[in-house]
Amino acid sequence: MTDSTSTPPTTATATATGRAPGDRVVLVTGGAGGIGRAIAEAFLAVGDRVIVADVDADAAAGTASALGASAVAVDITDPVAVAAAVEQIVADHGRIDVLVNNAGILSVHGMLTELRPEDYERIVRVNILGTFTVTQAVARRMTADGVHGSIVNISSIGGRQPTPGMGAYESSKAAVDSLTRWAAIELAGAGIRVNAVAPGPVLTPMLRAGMPEGSPAREAWASRIPLGRLAEVDDVAPAVVFLAGAHHITGVSLAVDGGQLLA
Ligand code: NAD
Repeated sequence: MTDSTSTPPTTATATATGRAPGDRVVLVTGGAGGIGRAIAEAFLAVGDRVIVADVDADAAAGTASALGASAVAVDITDPVAVAAAVEQIVADHGRIDVLVNNAGILSVHGMLTELRPEDYERIVRVNILGTFTVTQAVARRMTADGVHGSIVNISSIGGRQPTPGMGAYESSKAAVDSLTRWAAIELAGAGIRVNAVAPGPVLTPMLRAGMPEGSPAREAWASRIPLGRLAEVDDVAPAVVFLAGAHHITGVSLAVDGGQLLA
């Protein structure tokens, strides 16, 4: 195990299964708040080094300083900025062992007959193109440096089960599941695993405020979930840490949905 205060190596010496928990450099996009912050906390709890990347520079810096992580301000839809951020992280931390593609937008909704194409395009740019862009930049570094790393994408069970008015978001997450399998099959030869975690509705601070306990919206969602409640962020984060270290699993999208896909 490497002392976290020592200078990290610039050339990776990963084993065939990648580095163990506690010895990993983990990049979490969209890590400033919500699910991403809980994911960052979960990796820090097992002793990994974490870099929180977010388009909201102040929020990323605030979260990183509160948790004991590092922060990077980056818009995942900008390939030049993403490549520069990845190079900076590798220069500062030696390598990236785990990438969590968590950044996404989920607030734009509309029925098929009403949604403006430009709103759909915004979702596609962040959720699909942004996930692709960061995956490409990090996979290039991992393969060049011989890092047997792991990538975990945050998808949604909405990609498999429709809800009226949410199809633009949901179809972007179906694409994230497909991108997961695409990356998994192409990167397996380099010893890089790619998986996804697909939550149902998760009570982030924003969702909790919009759907207070006992509200009709909260009840409507809970009634679709066999286990009877919406997920907490801490229901989701352990699944991400598990997949990051699951040495013989690649190409899966693991539902964390209280059984919603059964109903
Ligand atoms: P959130 O809005 O709280 O967090 C998303 C983060 O991504 C924010 O910090 C935001 O600044 C950042 N971000 C947005 N666009 C970005 C960009 N272009 N570049 C860099 N960062 C950007 O949302 P959340 O609920 O925590 O969602 C996190 C992930 O989980 C998303 O991919 C979302 O689709 C997925 N998800 C959420 C739920 C849910 O119910 N909350 C359910 C299933 C899946």
